[in-house]
Amino acid sequence: PLLINQLAAGEVVTRPAAVVKELLENAIDAGATTIAVHIAQGGMGMIEVVDNGAGIHPDDMVMAITRHATSKVADVANLHGIMTLGFRGEALAATAAVSRLTLTSSHDHSGIGRQLQVAGILDDTPKLLPVVHNRGTTITVRDLYFNVPARRGNLKSIATEFGHIETIVREVALARADITLTLFHDNKKRLSLSASASSNNNRLSLSRLEQAIGTSLMESAIEVAVDLSSLIEHAKEYHRTASSHAGISGWLWPMRDQKRTLPKLIYVNGRLVKEALISNQLRQLAQEAQLAGIGYALYFDLPTEWLNINVHPSKQRIKISPLNNIMAHLSHALRTKLKMVSA
Ligand code: ADP
Ligand code: MG
Repeated sequence: PLLINQLAAGEVVTRPAAVVKELLENAIDAGATTIAVHIAQGGMGMIEVVDNGAGIHPDDMVMAITRHATSKVADVANLHGIMTLGFRGEALAATAAVSRLTLTSSHDHSGIGRQLQVAGILDDTPKLLPVVHNRGTTITVRDLYFNVPARRGNLKSIATEFGHIETIVREVALARADITLTLFHDNKKRLSLSASASSNNNRLSLSRLEQAIGTSLMESAIEVAVDLSSLIEHAKEYHRTASSHAGISGWLWPMRDQKRTLPKLIYVNGRLVKEALISNQLRQLAQEAQLAGIGYALYFDLPTEWLNINVHPSKQRIKISPLNNIMAHLSHALRTKLKMVSA
């Protein structure tokens, strides 16, 4: 199993930032509202993610680091409409196979948790030590690739690897304005984002958006709010759907001439995705309005029946079923706004 886990690690744990991404997704899936990320040496020394989520029951701790053990999907058919971010039960096992991993967790308010340590090989009978720990989970990953020298050699400089980590943390901060996030590198605070009070339904306030992308947008941002409930009515004809809400919210910022590149972020139900059709159409809209370019953070909130996420190991690609209809609504809403800006 070690070898299999190491092979899986080749796909899932491609670099320190990939570990950070998986650990953050797990913390979010556990319902955490506060997450602290501690990094040493660009993640090559240490990656630690501390969350205040639901925690893991002592009986489930070994399972958590076992390959294809996931608490998140009952059956494969469920994958179609999956809501949680993780669902393969691969990340922790793969990470544990190529690092020295410590899992500490408490699932209640006793102030006591359990701790489990793995270094490459999972013991037949791993010891669970009782430790002081608040409700939530701490995962510490040290010496990534200590037993895979070739991978270790592939890593770039500390600054580069940390840069990738910071990007991931910022992307999560943008996805979930309701979560307080801090990021430390070699004990220096690099990012501190408090949960944005004005964010109901994860709606992103402009100030949190500016903090998360690390740039002032200087009043130029346009708020996007598109109601797609009419599509739901239509979809009911061929889907049995319990969903009653669908919409797009977020921000878009036009560029007249600036050279700087602004982020282009598309989130679907809290998941950052790459969807060429959406980004192409947005670029086209910007061109139509004679803008030099646009940046955006758009949040598609869609019924899970419309989504198919399980198409790529990185989970970034997604299939949306009535995408043309959705984009028609979005274009209609944006066209006039963009024309007004460029006028
Ligand atoms: P997946 O997220 O695909 O289920 P992982 O390997 O990432 O697989 O995690 C395995 C399991 O460990 C999860 O299904 C979950 O039950 C548990 N787990 C991992 N991280 C956390 C966390 N931060 N809080 C609570 N449970 C966790
Ligand atoms: Mg996971």
